[in-house]
Amino acid sequence: MHEKTQNPKDFMVRVCCGCGRVRSDDGQWFDAPELLAITPREIHTHTICSECCVRMYPEFAIKKGWIKAS
Ligand SMILES: [Zn+2]
Repeated sequence: MHEKTQNPKDFMVRVCCGCGRVRSDDGQWFDAPELLAITPREIHTHTICSECCVRMYPEFAIKKGWIKAS
């Protein structure tokens, strides 16, 4: 009997809650509304991209060193 064990992590789709972009495995963010449309909601993982973090949570971005405190 062949049963493929698949890591659920392989199917996690990381979605930025700020701009709705999707993160690829190599850390790039891209617009993929068609991908989100075909992916079941339960495997969406909400996260935030660095750009939205800078915009929405500048203090956190400063801590991360992404931007400088002004
Ligand atoms: Zn974003």
